[in-house]
Amino acid sequence: MPDKIMLIIKCAKCNSKIFKYEKAGKGRVLNCWFDRIKKDYSVTEDENKKCKCGSVIGTIGIKGVKMKQGTFTESGTRVN
Ligand SMILES: [Zn+2]
Repeated sequence: MPDKIMLIIKCAKCNSKIFKYEKAGKGRVLNCWFDRIKKDYSVTEDENKKCKCGSVIGTIGIKGVKMKQGTFTESGTRVN
């Protein structure tokens, strides 16, 4: 089993929560897969995922959100 990390993804502009996300393995968050988003605080507008402040943090695809680099911060704790 790869390490799992529970990430809190926040808006880089206003520091509001965007997702609670269960990430497997190391490396940057490029996509947030829908089945691993445990809590979604974001706003959906057309194909965009936005913070409530209006900042676009990603675009919605078939299986997940393609994250826009530089628009969010992440902090995490290992869960297993
Ligand atoms: Zn924001």
